[in-house]
Formats: sequence, structure tokens, C-alpha cells
Amino acid sequence: MKDRNYFPYILETHLTDHCNLNCKGCSHFAPLVKGEAFTDIEIFKRDFKRFKQLFSDIYEIRLIGGEPLLHPDLVAFCEFTRDIYPKANISIFTNGKRLSGMPDVFWNTCSEKNILIKLSYYPIDLPIDKIKQKAKTHHVRIKIPKQIKQFSKLLNINGNSDPHQSFKSCRAMYKCLFLGNGKLYSCSLPPHIHLFNEYFHKDIHVSENDYINIFEDVDPSDIIEFTNRPIPMCRWCVTRRSFMKWDKSKKDINEWIGNDEDLLTHFFRMSKYHSINLYHQAKKYLKHR
Ligand code: SF4
Ligand code: SF4
Repeated sequence: MKDRNYFPYILETHLTDHCNLNCKGCSHFAPLVKGEAFTDIEIFKRDFKRFKQLFSDIYEIRLIGGEPLLHPDLVAFCEFTRDIYPKANISIFTNGKRLSGMPDVFWNTCSEKNILIKLSYYPIDLPIDKIKQKAKTHHVRIKIPKQIKQFSKLLNINGNSDPHQSFKSCRAMYKCLFLGNGKLYSCSLPPHIHLFNEYFHKDIHVSENDYINIFEDVDPSDIIEFTNRPIPMCRWCVTRRSFMKWDKSKKDINEWIGNDEDLLTHFFRMSKYHSINLYHQAKKYLKHR
């Protein structure tokens, strides 16, 4: 039976903003982070305790970054997340560079807490057989998809897109909400655009309408409604994303700036994502009917 306050979406959160890979056009702007930026576990706990008051269960929580495996308190994040949301799908997204060298305590925690490891598999050398063996030995679920060869270019630097159009095309591809520092965002763009602004001396403004402060007087229906409509920031995204070959970043602003893709390519890409979304909808339905 579906819980009354079930959050039926994927909720992402950063454990680090920085990364040990340097992908061209990274949508979380990790290559532009100066130094290291670790999430404070006490802030993380505070936010999830509040979120639990609003939503008793969540479809999926993704511990991401940056590179989450860089966080020295990673095990504590995993334990807390499972303890507060015992029934949610919980996954760690990693580029895999540190995975084969992670200590037993990490693997054992993922096993005990039923945390899935999802590899974002870029065209870099990784000891895939060793990683699979580690996961098997520790009874950890791991997903190793096909190598990612392309990245999308998201931004319209002129800020003049039709927000309804860019939102519609974006939602046809992804619906990953983002929780950080007491705020729920429709995506990972508003909480990290400051990195782009600081590095390239731009002024893409984040307004109060780009997020919901979960510590204010909001109820679950306000939040669900918020996630289903465009935000002001959508005008800074292209309406039809163009793609580029995956590569290492040279920190060139053009890595992030897209052009509207031609209609036919866009149509086929949307059809593919639509099928993937239908698959996830079916999975959710089966879990909560
Ligand atoms: S591995 Fe992920 S977070 Fe790191 S730079 Fe690449 S896309 Fe960004
Ligand atoms: S700002 Fe709007 S269009 Fe851009 S990524 Fe976020 S939800 Fe999608």
C-alpha cells in the first residue's frame, strides 16, 4: 500500500562537491571546485531528519558528488541514510577510481545496509574484474552500465529559453531532485551554478523561487507541486540539449554551453528516455502497489 507521504522520486544529495575525475562539461561543475568541499554530516542528518517529517518514505536516495568515495565519513553517511529510510532504494554513484581500494568496512556497510553501488563508467582505465570480485566477495550489489561516451551541454548562456520548453525536455530525460543545505531543488543546477559563476565571472542568479526551504512552513503537497513545474532557472537551460564526446575538462566555458539540437535527433533521444522512464515507473508501481 502506498504511504500517504511517499516521495515518489529520485532524491540526490552531494557528499562532496569536488571530484578526482575532471569531466568536460560536468553538470555538477566539479572541475570548477577550488580545493576540497565535503558535506558536513551534521547538516546532512539535520536535513534528512526534517525530510523524514515531511515524507515517511522515498523511492530512491542517491549519494553522489563530486566523488562520494572521497568523503572520509562515507560509512557514517551510508549507515545514517539506511537507518532513517529503511525501505528506500539507496545507491552510491561513483566514477570507480577509488572503488577497488576501498576498505572492507565500506564494502561490509554497503552489504549490511543494502546499498547499491552504481558505476558511472567513463572511458578511463578501471580494474573492472577486481571491482566485480570485491563486490561479489562482500555480497554487494553493483551496477556497471555501458561506458558513457557522451555528455550533454546544458546551459543557454543568454538566459532566454522558454522555461516551460526547457523544463519539459529536461523532465522527459530526468527527474532527479536535489537536497542540500536545507533546500530542495528541482535539479542539481541551482545549488551548484555558483561554481560556474565564480569561475567564469558570470551572474546566473538563483532566486527564492528556484527551491523550497524545507524548514519553512511547507507540507508534502507543496513540495510535490513544486517539483512538477518549471523554475526561473529553467530559462538558463537549452530546450533541446546538444551532446559532445566525453573527454577531460580544459575548464573552457564552451564545455557547458549548448545549442538547441536539431528536432529529429531530439525526438529520437526523447523517445529513448521516455522508454527508460516508463521502465522506472513500472518498477515504482510494482514496489508500492
Ligand atoms: S565523475 Fe561525475 S562528478 Fe566527477 S567530474 Fe565526472 S561527471 Fe563530474
Ligand atoms: S533548471 Fe530547469 S531545465 Fe534546467 S536542469 Fe533544472 S529543471 Fe531542468
